[in-house]
Amino acid sequence: MLNVQEVRTDFPILSIEAHPGVPLIYLDSAATSQKPSVVVDAMNAFYRSYNSNVHRGIHRLSEDATTGYETARRKVQAFINAESAESIVYTRNTTEAINLVAYSWARTQLQPGDELLITAMEHHANIVPWQLISDMTGATLRHVPFRSDGTLDMAKLPELLSDKTKLFAFTAVSNVFGTINPVRELVDAAHAVGALALVDAAQAVPHMPVDVQAWDCDFMAFSAHKMCGPTGIGILYGKGELLESMPPFMGGGDMIRRVGLDKSTWADLPHKFEAGTPAIAEAIGLGAAVDYLTGLGMENVHAHEQFIVNYAVEALSDVPGLTILGPGASQRAGVAAFTLNGAHPHDIAQLLDEDGIAVRAGHHCAMPLHQICGINATARASFYVHTTTEEVDKLVAGLHRVRRVFRLE
Ligand code: PMP
Repeated sequence: MLNVQEVRTDFPILSIEAHPGVPLIYLDSAATSQKPSVVVDAMNAFYRSYNSNVHRGIHRLSEDATTGYETARRKVQAFINAESAESIVYTRNTTEAINLVAYSWARTQLQPGDELLITAMEHHANIVPWQLISDMTGATLRHVPFRSDGTLDMAKLPELLSDKTKLFAFTAVSNVFGTINPVRELVDAAHAVGALALVDAAQAVPHMPVDVQAWDCDFMAFSAHKMCGPTGIGILYGKGELLESMPPFMGGGDMIRRVGLDKSTWADLPHKFEAGTPAIAEAIGLGAAVDYLTGLGMENVHAHEQFIVNYAVEALSDVPGLTILGPGASQRAGVAAFTLNGAHPHDIAQLLDEDGIAVRAGHHCAMPLHQICGINATARASFYVHTTTEEVDKLVAGLHRVRRVFRLE
């Protein structure tokens, strides 16, 4: 298990006050995680002592920068057990990683009559790119529905997957329900009809051990900023032969082998997909985040979140009029989105903020999910390695205050 009090000292921001005299209780890690000192320090060290562009220089600083940038790639490779560092493509975030596959693979492969499959619980980042591609190619976009408990309706899979399906793109963990989906089963179902499988792991890689070879997915996308790393960098994992077969997503410097005025050839993987000066400090920060999480142990991270989310689901259930979306704690990652009869989620978030409690309110970039549930918005508390049961107790006390303010008692 994690020593949470020790972990908390790794995150300088946790000792600030949200308002004068009111300590911060950060329950918004699903939107973005806080950063431990080691990550901030690694990025500072880069800018202070070896800031330089990568790959193009033969001077010492450039070599050091390149080493930092490429070492981080190998750390990510080991972290998700990818077969090679060439399978790890730096992007800006999960969104860009999914768009890379959409534009480079799907746009060039799909035609009318083909089908793309997603689920009804996706984040907009795993919906909108496929809508754009379906408009461009004439391919049909279909979705797997979810049941009232926020789990996928697996019984519908056989009628949705067929030899027309070319790609099944789904989230490993819902950012609203918290549902942990059966990734390997979904990947196998896609492969059984000859489709590729793309996993949106934005809410999985930061929170549990992830092994791309055990999942056997063809593509996987995630963001550094949700796993203790900086904003501005994300990862696309892709199987080598697939990435090899795909045309570049963007053109420019660093992604070429030779450029002529009429025609050019491409650099080897993964550089073919990394046009222009990349996010170097951010890659180094991501490498430090991977080291940090590896040091904690992803089994321990997951176990702690399971413990906290169990505690939270039980404690929140005591608040009259409160409904938590999603499945029971055993199938749920560290996310609890809820509604409270008589109080709008935005008002809930604003009142909780007065108590120093940061939660998110809205549709959490999952409008279709909310529409299907018949609600416009939810309030969402999300947990991470530093969350304590005392913080959850304060959330519950804050919600009782919301009920008093709105005279719901
Ligand atoms: N997918 C899921 C499941 C997410 O939770 C998020 C972030 N909220 C994204 C994709 C998009 O991540 P980013 O904004 O870092 O691209």
